[in-house]
Amino acid sequence: MILIDGKKAAAELREELKHEVTSLKAKYNRVPGLTVILIGDLTPSQIYVRNKEKSANEVGLKSEVIKYPDSVEEKTVLEKIEELNKDETVSGILVQLPLPKHIDKQKVIETILPSKDVDGFHPMNVGNLSSGYESSVPCTPLGCYLLIKKVEPNLKGKKAVIVGRSNLNGKPMTQLLLKENCTVTITHSKTKDLKAECLEADIIVAAVGIPELVKGDWVKKDTIVIDVGINKTDKGIVGDVDFEEVSKNAKALTPVPGGVGPMTIACLLKNTIECFKRSQI
Ligand code: NAP
Repeated sequence: MILIDGKKAAAELREELKHEVTSLKAKYNRVPGLTVILIGDLTPSQIYVRNKEKSANEVGLKSEVIKYPDSVEEKTVLEKIEELNKDETVSGILVQLPLPKHIDKQKVIETILPSKDVDGFHPMNVGNLSSGYESSVPCTPLGCYLLIKKVEPNLKGKKAVIVGRSNLNGKPMTQLLLKENCTVTITHSKTKDLKAECLEADIIVAAVGIPELVKGDWVKKDTIVIDVGINKTDKGIVGDVDFEEVSKNAKALTPVPGGVGPMTIACLLKNTIECFKRSQI
């Protein structure tokens, strides 16, 4: 079984991006800039943002974090986004989710210029992705896609089963694999026989949030299994896939942690660079 090493893949991607930033700097005399807005003092969000900033600096991006207290008014945040939209030194804007209840998440997402939407959540980017046009792609599914392509460069005709239909993971993952000419089945909490669906798959991407939902006997030999889940349990952090059992059958599998997670941040940097490049055309 191939253990898909997300840490290594992310380090390789960051190295490639570092070289790309160096050549962009030589060509345009400036580097892509990423601005993250962090609202409130939720510890996981603070950790994510710190890691994003560290990785951005590592590849040579201009990086900035704007922090607001939980009590910040929605209007203040929207005005700041408008200001960043006009700032030519800012290539990408990310507002760290979740947001406090009094702030309308969709309004925030839609205020970010689609061309600076490094999370790929703006309806314009969602539409472009599903129409097969150029767009920012949400970072986690993009990371999954790059990991799958490392194991199997030619995905034409493969049967993919996506477990979970969130806007963040399942739906964009479906679009990415459709673009690669996979036959994609998207499953969810109302799917009648999830095991039977999974048993048909050459590729399974599990993004559910239920510890070890995907069992060993749900996976046929030679399946590539990507585990997006991050679940806190008594035995520590586990994914949505029963790692021990599935590893006996699968052709390739991502561990949790150390699989999809590290690729998510690397893909954020990639998206920032793509936004910068598109703005230079
Ligand atoms: P989400 O928005 O809660 O969506 C979960 C999806 O799973 C829903 O579509 C839901 O179906 C489906 N589902 C629930 N129970 C199911 C069942 N028994 N069988 C089949 N499908 C079922 O979750 P998310 O934001 O996509 O996150 C999923 C997991 O990925 C979480 O563990 C999260 O922490 C993790 N995550 C990891 C990263 C990373 O960087 N590695 C990034 C983001 C998220 P319905 O639509 O029918 O409700």
